[in-house]
Amino acid sequence: MAALRSYVNGDWHAPVEDGVPLHDAVTGEEVARISSAGVDMAAALAHGRERGGPALAELTFHQRAALLKSLASYLLEHREELYALSARTGATLGDSKFDVDGGIGVLFGYSSKGRREMPNDTVYVDGAVEPLGKGGTFLGQHVCTPLSGVAVQINAFNFPVWGPLEKFAPAFLAGVPSLIKPASQTAYLTHRLVELMIGSGLLPEGSLQLICGSVGDLFEHLTDQDLVSFTGSAATGQRLRAHPVVAANSVRFNVEADSLNCSILGPDAEPGSAEFDLFVKQLVTEMTVKAGQKCTAIRRALVPAGRMDDVVAAAKARLEKVVVGNPNSSGVRMGALASLEQREEVRRSLKALLEAGTLVHGDPDHVEVVDADAERGAFLSPMLVRCDDPDQPQPHEVEAFGPVSTLMPYENAAHAVDLARRGKGSLVGSVVTADPAFAREVVLGAASRHGRMLVLNSDNAKESTGHGSPLPALVHGGPGRAGGGEEMGGIRGVLHHMQRTAVQADPATLTAITGQWVTGSPRNITDVHPFRKHLEDLRVGDTVVAGPRRVTLEDVEHFAEFTGDTFYAHTDEEAASANPFFDGRVAHGYLVVSFAAGLFVDPDPGPVLANYGLENLRFLTPTYPGDEITVTMTAKRITPRVGAEHGEVRWDVDVTNQDGDSVAKYDVLTLVAKRPDTQE
Ligand code: NDP
Repeated sequence: MAALRSYVNGDWHAPVEDGVPLHDAVTGEEVARISSAGVDMAAALAHGRERGGPALAELTFHQRAALLKSLASYLLEHREELYALSARTGATLGDSKFDVDGGIGVLFGYSSKGRREMPNDTVYVDGAVEPLGKGGTFLGQHVCTPLSGVAVQINAFNFPVWGPLEKFAPAFLAGVPSLIKPASQTAYLTHRLVELMIGSGLLPEGSLQLICGSVGDLFEHLTDQDLVSFTGSAATGQRLRAHPVVAANSVRFNVEADSLNCSILGPDAEPGSAEFDLFVKQLVTEMTVKAGQKCTAIRRALVPAGRMDDVVAAAKARLEKVVVGNPNSSGVRMGALASLEQREEVRRSLKALLEAGTLVHGDPDHVEVVDADAERGAFLSPMLVRCDDPDQPQPHEVEAFGPVSTLMPYENAAHAVDLARRGKGSLVGSVVTADPAFAREVVLGAASRHGRMLVLNSDNAKESTGHGSPLPALVHGGPGRAGGGEEMGGIRGVLHHMQRTAVQADPATLTAITGQWVTGSPRNITDVHPFRKHLEDLRVGDTVVAGPRRVTLEDVEHFAEFTGDTFYAHTDEEAASANPFFDGRVAHGYLVVSFAAGLFVDPDPGPVLANYGLENLRFLTPTYPGDEITVTMTAKRITPRVGAEHGEVRWDVDVTNQDGDSVAKYDVLTLVAKRPDTQE
């Protein structure tokens, strides 16, 4: 049987020894062999840093995002073969979709977030400009730039596709090359995934490498610019995090470890209610998807004290319908565990759980299976444990990483919170209730020990993505026992791969460094109105100054009548004077903004295609009848869209009165056409 190859230093490397056999989880047949013998780990890291990093640095966030999208589309076309291989890990088609489609979904998600929430640049500006001196000549701005090392990604066996992709996507978008090390048991699937990714020809050389087998002396060569993202057991995570090189070089180390996630049934959910059914259905789903080998699965089901019998009966009724067997056979709901070793591990953990409770469904030693050999394949029945004393320690400490869950009673909301917190840090918790007060007490009480909390009820059930699904836009990780890490979470996961630096400088220098115009920088007032310039001809700092325009009482009265905004501050002199902020009637803020637009626009058809909004609008000084307003509009940020005929321009607008005081400040957002000859 051929050994899996590693992809390092721009080439596929076969190991220099036979390697360890990997077995089909369903049939027990050998699938492949694995070994990293002969791989030069130091050279692989160097290749990532010297080839991958610089190649990514030449691309803007938007260009990287566009590549992620193309890659996702490419993988979608090849997903059938990934499903086929995934079945050999014991996964049903539904499980495989969770893994494969879920992973591809993360690529799409990051592509879209990168284009919408990051600039088309290589530097990410984080937060607002901080004024550091009264004169406005000394400012601070946080910027994020990619680490110049390699993102070492060590994955668990249970998600051979989603696991690598959810780590790769934010690293790639950040501009940091990835070195993927899959768990050996299911590495043949990740191996095929990486073959496809490399074969797509989309990724710059060095931006993706793969090590099949042990990492050897890799940790010895980590520098302060590398980072490690680990998913697996708490024990391995702790051991690796304590590596002397990691400590000495302050290597950023993210851990996702085991987690005793809970789901809580609200006291309002009577048997027969929608929420009761949702709770039971979700519990059984979480026990059986991926045969319960999900770091987010429900391990502890907490129900009101008087409802234990009802929940047991309803869960059993559902569990009895779960058909276990060959994932390729129709009708099979639950496949095999990833390996025979994993099954033994689950049996051992179950034994510990049974010291605290009784088995009310399932049998660890026997399961009816369809189209497979129950002993050669790593099959187990789903097993529900009932523990009437929730003070027993085992259910809060022992994670059976398989189709196993423990049901426990709670007395009231405070008790439910206390029990939820006994997991000592979880990836996710869910509360199934239609009672917002109960949801608030439990969510806020338990949140500090959870990375994500789902409130499920009949209002959101149809659209809910469920307890067990981490999403690219939301944080995946948890405190304490869950590893203390944080992955994804939208752009947060990208920033994890970057260094945040506080830059202090004068406005002009800050504009040059960030590519975004900041107040106090020189303005460029040219003969050509900036609205007549195509995107490529426009520069940050290009400015139009227009006005003054006198605002009259007739204007205010006309605006009030015309729009219907007859608020007393604009229409009633006496009432307006009594207002502590005004000395008589004032112009509407929206009138000021409208007049400003009337002043700054260049009316003829031209490259400015649309105004799609205002941001950060603040009215700073009242405008009284007789005041004269002037508007200064400056191109602040120019964002060409990859593959589009236009880009976005953010304008800084400052409306001042005859005394030079700002009466309104805001950003105007426009779409501006590229020059016809340069449209991509
Ligand atoms: P491990 O911690 O044994 O392995 C996780 C990853 O670490 C694998 O890629 C493994 O590679 C690698 N690894 C192991 N030892 C080293 C080392 N010394 N140096 C570098 N890498 C190393 O966990 P398992 O995958 O076996 O899973 C065991 C338990 O982890 C489960 O029972 C469950 O409790 C938990 N788990 C948690 C998950 C989560 O997301 N929170 C997901 C999956 C599992 P190799 O396979 O080659 O040894």
